[in-house]
Order: sequence, then structure tokens, then C-alpha cells
Amino acid sequence: MSDLVIRGGTVVTSHSAGLADVAVTDGRISAVGPNLDGDAEQEIDASGLHVFPGGIDSHVHFNEPGRTAWETIAHGSAALAAGGYTAFVDMPLNNLPVTIDGPAFDLKLEAAKRSSIVDFGFWGGLVPGNVNRLEELAKRGVIGFKAFMCPSGIDEFPACDERTLREGMKRIAELDSILLVHAEDPAKLSDPKGTTARDFLESRPWEAELSAIHNAIAWAREAGCRLHIVHVSWAPSAALIQVARKGGADVSGETCPHYLLYSEEDLERLGGLGKCAPPFRSAGGLEAMWTSLADGWLEMVVSDHSPSTLELKQGENFLRIWGGISGCQSTRQLLLAQDRLDLQRVAALTSTNVANRFGLEHKGDVAPGYDADLWLVDLSHTDVVRREDLLYRNPFSAHEGQPIRGRTVRTLLRGQTVFAKGAVVSGSGGRVMKRPA
Ligand SMILES: [Zn+2]
Repeated sequence: MSDLVIRGGTVVTSHSAGLADVAVTDGRISAVGPNLDGDAEQEIDASGLHVFPGGIDSHVHFNEPGRTAWETIAHGSAALAAGGYTAFVDMPLNNLPVTIDGPAFDLKLEAAKRSSIVDFGFWGGLVPGNVNRLEELAKRGVIGFKAFMCPSGIDEFPACDERTLREGMKRIAELDSILLVHAEDPAKLSDPKGTTARDFLESRPWEAELSAIHNAIAWAREAGCRLHIVHVSWAPSAALIQVARKGGADVSGETCPHYLLYSEEDLERLGGLGKCAPPFRSAGGLEAMWTSLADGWLEMVVSDHSPSTLELKQGENFLRIWGGISGCQSTRQLLLAQDRLDLQRVAALTSTNVANRFGLEHKGDVAPGYDADLWLVDLSHTDVVRREDLLYRNPFSAHEGQPIRGRTVRTLLRGQTVFAKGAVVSGSGGRVMKRPA
């Protein structure tokens, strides 16, 4: 007898979609198939609903400890559960202290254990001067490491010069881990000529991204280091990653909804709410970004949820506005509303591929042996992103007014309902995910 059977839903995985029941025993999926026999302590009727693997957002900044006026793990993880997500991997910056050594990792782990309602993991930081601290981070179970090739916007998390990057890559290869890079080449960025959004855009051209990705791939190949390019904004960058991968480089890439939905013209409309780096690109490039997902050049869509207070997103001088977009609650619903990718591709881009690339065991599929992390969603429901529905510490977003598809009926974490009927159901049940040492 199983603990739970979810009956009659359309189960969507990265490779199939069809009517099936899902049985859960001890938090893991024990069987998937049509009309499963046997009793269960609890049954959930999912007829008319779709059952996705829980989403995994591997790029969020929940800012705790340290900048909890901007975001907290409690708010951020609740927002994820509301949007069908059951796990996140938190970035090493915007929290204080930044996650660049073991003691900082320990503080963050304690904070997440106290308040995350979904499962969680952490990226460690690679910065000048901490190459000899990477091992202690790896031993604590970081999923991998993150570095900036240009200034991060946060003084305590400086950019890596070429020497640090190459040394770090060698060390990370020895640790059998992975390096994530923010790829903009500082040599191709310029000082803005004025204080408007247009000046900001012109100071960060797409050539800077392309050049940085080119360098990062070359250096990582030389070091034998696994590489992942975060928030790819422009299809030629995605194509460069795809070509390198076909040529034998161990490199992957992600993009975010805002690089699929918005262009430079939208930045002038959105103002500070739309400021992020790399910035939005020209409208003519959006179509090719969707192609880069449909054709598998990029394997993931993540939020890069990088919130702040509303005050920091406003002001006359665009250059002084905080760069970062709040969005982690809406990633899947935004993708589904566009109806550009089939459901299996959405499951792959937001869950399966993330788990596979980053070695998240028992995550990312609806199949026996996997954690029963599930999103039960009513795809007949359409709406727009509304401020009053956002669960962030600071509930606002560049996505407000954007069409979304899919109402979350229930989000389950290891078989337990954590979100239903528009509200968080259970408290801090999230567990840490570690990369096996
Ligand atoms: Zn980020």
C-alpha cells in the first residue's frame, strides 16, 4: 500500500505526456502508469489537470542572510512553490556575507533550514583571493561555483581577472565540480555617455557577451573544467555555446523569461523595473531566442530572481538604479502562456535538464525512484501577472501585466502538499541538496 496516489492527471515529463496515475511511498514516486492498482492512504483526483515534475530554479538571489529587506528565503521559496517549483539553488551574492568560504556557507545553510518551504542548494563564489577556499565549499556540498567576468554590482563580490578564472577553473576541475560564469567582457563594456536607459543599453553591447563566452569556453577547455553560462541574452551567444558543445566542450547555457519576452524598446517602457545585466537586446533577436530553446542550444530557463526594494528600482538617473528582475514565481506560467514550446520541452527546460546538468539526485522527473516533487496545474486557466498575487518580500515585478497560463492547484514536495488554494500549506520542510563530494 502506498501513502498517496494521484489519479487521472496528464503526466508531463521531458519525453512524454499522457494520462497516468502517480503512486508515492515514503516521499518517493513508487509507480507511474494508467489505472494503478492498490490502495493508498490518501488519493488526489487530478482529472483535468497536468502533473509536471516540480520546477528547479537554479538561479535565484534570496539575499539571506544580510539583505533581507530585499528578499528572504521564506518569501522566495513560497513564491517558487506558488509557481510550481520545488527546489532552488541560491547564488553566492547579494546575501551577506557572500558565500565565498565555509563559514559563510554554514550561515546560509542554517537560514535556509529555518525557513525554506522547498528543497535548496547553494552555489559557492569564485572571487580573486579565494581559490584556496573552494575545496572547503565543495566539501560542504555546493552544487558548483559562480564567477563574474565583469563587475557584479556588489563590492564584496568582485569580478575575476583572467588569471583568477583560469586558476579557479583548474581547481574546480580537480574538485570535479562546475563553474557558472556571468559572461560580459569588461574590455567591451564602456562607461555610459549619459544617465538614461538608452545610455545604459549602449554601454553593454551584445559583443561583450559573445566575447566573454568565447574566452570562458577556451579557458575552461584548457583547464578541463565543466562550464555553464548564466542568463544568455542573445541568440548568437546561444549558438556559440551549441557549436562549442558539438565540438566537444563541456559547456551548457541558460536563459530567462525576460530575454525571451522583452527588447530594448520594452526597457524604455518598463524603466527601472526592467534593468538587469546583460540588458534586453533588440526586438529582432527575440524570435531566435525561442529557436535556441526549441532546438536545444540552451538547456534551461531560470528566473535570475534578483529582487530589491521598490525604491532602489526607481529614480531619475538610470545608472544608479539596482540591476535585477524579480520573477521566480512566474517562470513556468510565462513560458506556457506563449505557447511556443511543447509541454515536454517546458518540463525539460525548467526541471529535468537542470537536475541532470547539476547532478541533483532524485530530482527532475516523474518516474519511480524520484522524489515526489510535483506540480498539479490547471492549464485551462489564463491570467496576467498581478502585483497582489506575488509572494515576494517586495511584491512587484517587471512581468506585471504579462499573460500567464496555468493555475497552481497543488505543489507537492516529496509527497507533502506545500502549496494549495493560493496559499502556503506547510512551513519550513525544505531539505538541502548537495553535490556528492
Ligand atoms: Zn543572477
